[in-house]
Amino acid sequence: MSIGYLPEVYPDELFYSWVSRTFVHSGHALHSAVLREFFCKRSDNPSKEFLGNLNEDAKKVIREVMPLRELILQNTMVSQYARFLPLAEKQEAMRRMEFDYCDPHFLFPVLVRNEEDAFLRYCPCCLREQRDALGEAYWCRKHQLRGVSLCYKHGCLLEHSTVSAKSHTAYNLSPAEEYAVIDTPRYCANPELLRYTRYISDVFDAPMDFERDIPFTAVLHNALLSTKYMKSSGKTRYTQQLADDLSAFYQKIGVTSITSMSQIQKALLLGKADFTVVCQIAYFLGMSVQELTAPKLSTHQIAAEQEAHHVRGRVCPDWDVFDDAAAPILEQLAHDIYTGAARPDGRPERVSERLIYKTFELDGERLHWYRLQNAPKCQAVLEKFFETYEDHWCRRLVWAYNKIKAERGEKPIYWVDLRRISGVKERNLSKIAPLIHKHTDRKTAKIIRQIIE
Ligand SMILES: [Zn+2]
Repeated sequence: MSIGYLPEVYPDELFYSWVSRTFVHSGHALHSAVLREFFCKRSDNPSKEFLGNLNEDAKKVIREVMPLRELILQNTMVSQYARFLPLAEKQEAMRRMEFDYCDPHFLFPVLVRNEEDAFLRYCPCCLREQRDALGEAYWCRKHQLRGVSLCYKHGCLLEHSTVSAKSHTAYNLSPAEEYAVIDTPRYCANPELLRYTRYISDVFDAPMDFERDIPFTAVLHNALLSTKYMKSSGKTRYTQQLADDLSAFYQKIGVTSITSMSQIQKALLLGKADFTVVCQIAYFLGMSVQELTAPKLSTHQIAAEQEAHHVRGRVCPDWDVFDDAAAPILEQLAHDIYTGAARPDGRPERVSERLIYKTFELDGERLHWYRLQNAPKCQAVLEKFFETYEDHWCRRLVWAYNKIKAERGEKPIYWVDLRRISGVKERNLSKIAPLIHKHTDRKTAKIIRQIIE
């Protein structure tokens, strides 16, 4: 079933809001009818912050209105989660979102929500303007930014709806028109807080760089150079002082969730890229939006920060210790992911760096890419388990076949059975068929090829 009617998407509107309004306009009585038009499976719930698992027909209809990539950039929260990722991860995240769905939690560091961020928020003034101009209200992206409590436009307090901001909690659509009920704004006379809020939303709105790979650590390092928080040699940083002053600054403004000392350390040393943390450090240092989002750093300046890293690495030589301790744990984890032992259903997964960053833990520490660069034994483990997507899909098909065969015995097995539990897509079969013999015996390979061809 393809999308029957698609209303116009509004500026800064959450994709989820668009789908919810589609339901209102469609005349369908049930949410499930609209969800089926948009998403692949019955078990897909609509994503509040991202796109969700869109089916190909839906993508086609949407592409007639606008390129999918543009929709991702303009109407999801990607700009918050992907902005400060390393270039390759940012590009991969965009590719997966557009062409090859996976759970966004594997693509971005999505933090646990606190009370402030638990529900979709709205500004009564914006709502009134929308209703006057468009005849209906919608959910805005910039009201959903983590840690933001004011409307960037009107300066009034954002109101909390009863609609959870999490995606996995509901299978229904909640249009703002129905769920944003407070229409009297509560103004907040705090120009400092408003200035900070506007900075955050301007960073969110700024174009994302998909060409140059300038780590935000280099950008912040360079900004710190001209402050009292770093010696002009760039080799000594006074992080405690920075954390204390930053905390006092934001307390005075009235920001509720303030970046801590350990978050600053993680950001500057390990390149852990949380949007709010980076924005708070940059704003505190007086950096312009332009300086943060489109930095003009020379290769020399970028290299200087990397070098400072190495100096610190020598001063605190924990890399070897870390590598020795981490490699055997990583080996077991990678093995379990690869063989399927890590999942309740036993399905093999591809050992991607992203998945490793997400699941690996040693004494509360993650294996971030920066640590990995300094851990040759861990790198060797990942190389050992590396496989192409095509080989991975083959292994999944073989696994699915053997699993069904063990349950059914001699009864026939069809492509739809394999697809259901392997998750392999039909469009990839032509690339897979010639490789199956690499992953099983000749007889089984032949049977599987017959099933899929
Ligand atoms: Zn507003």
